Amino acid sequence: MNPVLSDETTQTDWHALADRVLQGDELTRDDALAIIHSPDAELLDLLAAAYKVRRQHFGNKVHLYYLKNAKSGLCPEDCGYCSQSKISDAPIEKYALLNSEKLLAGARQAAANQARTYCIVASGRGPSDREVEHIAKTVETIKDELGLHICCCLGLLSTEQALRLKEAGVDRINHNLNTSRRFYDQICSTHSYQDRLDTLKTVRDAGMELCCGVIAGMGEQPADLVDLAFELRELKVESIPVNFLNAIDGTPLEGRTDLNPRDCLRALALFRMTNPKTEIRIAGGREVNLRSMQSLGLYPANSLFVSDYLTTKGQAAEDDFRMIEDLGFEVVISGPSPLYSEMSNDEIRMSNQ
Ligand code: SF4
Repeated sequence: MNPVLSDETTQTDWHALADRVLQGDELTRDDALAIIHSPDAELLDLLAAAYKVRRQHFGNKVHLYYLKNAKSGLCPEDCGYCSQSKISDAPIEKYALLNSEKLLAGARQAAANQARTYCIVASGRGPSDREVEHIAKTVETIKDELGLHICCCLGLLSTEQALRLKEAGVDRINHNLNTSRRFYDQICSTHSYQDRLDTLKTVRDAGMELCCGVIAGMGEQPADLVDLAFELRELKVESIPVNFLNAIDGTPLEGRTDLNPRDCLRALALFRMTNPKTEIRIAGGREVNLRSMQSLGLYPANSLFVSDYLTTKGQAAEDDFRMIEDLGFEVVISGPSPLYSEMSNDEIRMSNQ
């Protein structure tokens, strides 16, 4: 089936496609491929259509996330995009799992940055039971003090580990599929796409939300992005971080620059239109790939990371707040955090300078 075409049958009617999505129709493969292949001349129409869908489900709200790299480097896996893998020569900081005080300090910084969710991320194939217990106890403290929404990204998890994290109050687990099943073995050989799917099922069975995303720009075909967008639709994940490859020197993907800012916007529109009610986050590589067009990304997407990524710097939080304000959008503030209630917006801004 062809995507909706306008009278001239030369241009896709993106607004009609948005209307179909809002009526509950699922995008077909042809629709999805048409988004990825759409010409630059139609980009603003495509974004307006994606924004129509975003606005219906999320209004003009922007959810902010704050990342803490809780354990860095020292990973035995070989994911080609990752500066923390065993095959990366990138000069990154390497350290074992942070103590509770440091993780709690990160949570306080997340609250000061108006982040709704604090993401605790640890490198490695998967955590030891001791590491899970340490994180679980720390999450209990963070929940008591700050009431933040907590997402953990710890690699492959066993059923027992997932249940312990759920019991501690972890709301969500991040575990990205990153690319399609077809392309997966081109970016990693030490674990499989199926291993990652199994962990997603384990997390779901334990009763936690799923955050599962993509890295675009690793050499995949447009069909791979579509496959993943459809897989995430099947999994009904709550959140999709859309990363754009920031090819770090010293990794196997060093020097790759496949994407331009318009490709990134088309990818964001693809994930919004295929997963209309799911939170779509502009994630790693935002600044280097979207460059001067970052703000346009918030028409399809409704969420951002504020501050730094795992091993690379993000733009200053102050610039993110200004971008959101300039768009006329509004940061979602949630949770019974004393820091939120005691600080004015100006004070929060000052704390980020
Ligand atoms: S498992 Fe995680 S930390 Fe390890 S190489 Fe892959 S992405 Fe990096």
